[in-house]
Amino acid sequence: MKFEMKDLHVAVNAEQSSANTAVQRERKEIISGISLTINSGEVHALMGPNGSGKSTLSLALMGHPKYKITHGDILLNGKSIINLPANERAKLGVFLGFQYPQEVEGVGISNFLRTVLARTNDGAPAVKEFHKQLKEKMSQLGMPEEFLKRGLNHGFSGGEKKRSEILQLEVLKPKFAILDEPDSGTDVDGLKSVAAGIKETVAENKTGVLLITHYNRILEHVKPDFVHIIVDGKIVNSGGAELARETEKSGYDSLKVAEAAAQ
Ligand code: ADP
Ligand code: MG
Repeated sequence: MKFEMKDLHVAVNAEQSSANTAVQRERKEIISGISLTINSGEVHALMGPNGSGKSTLSLALMGHPKYKITHGDILLNGKSIINLPANERAKLGVFLGFQYPQEVEGVGISNFLRTVLARTNDGAPAVKEFHKQLKEKMSQLGMPEEFLKRGLNHGFSGGEKKRSEILQLEVLKPKFAILDEPDSGTDVDGLKSVAAGIKETVAENKTGVLLITHYNRILEHVKPDFVHIIVDGKIVNSGGAELARETEKSGYDSLKVAEAAAQ
């Protein structure tokens, strides 16, 4: 299977209020022509400085209504998905692990995941079997069982939320996963658990992954097949795993300077 971005341009409806007018809307282009193909089982790392458009790209790929695709296409196995809402994209096997996961009070992890499974995959397994699998995965991720009694991400620390996103990834087994900074806010153990969860998902389900990160350290655990560098909404460089190390060493500032000089 293939997940493709073709000359993708994404704009956000930015709201600006000023003293004497009501709310004004202006469209601001954030992603300016990204083309990328992810095949099943491939890990593509996407690295870039703050504000380069990584989260905008991931939200647009999943169909967040605030982010408008103004040009280009997103294809799943050759079929455009840009007119589908997020839940339909999820049913087709696209998953997004958020940089900032929402807290949902009153909806337990177990209920949430079993309901999503019932809607997206071939149906949910029996409750007892599901709980057994869930507890196993939680223990591998270093998540206490007590979390099952709490609302989804409710009151979780930054690192706990990232484990919770990876738990969802492991249970839902998507065909393609966009993981937006799964390493941010994790401590050393958290990073290892998150990385192990991603690796296992790729190995077991041939999930294709777009792994968004700011740092090379997670890539020492999850070896990427390709690394892409994004600056100002454009991919300015692509290469193998070594590109991540080089970029971290030289710093993103040098890339921004090079980009400005090229314009
Ligand atoms: P990254 O994830 O690479 O740090 P983002 O995609 O979050 O970058 O942001 C890219 C740029 O788009 C930033 O300048 C940010 O302020 C702007 N942006 C993102 N979302 C919105 C929004 N909803 N409204 C206005 N500006 C936005
Ligand atoms: Mg971001």
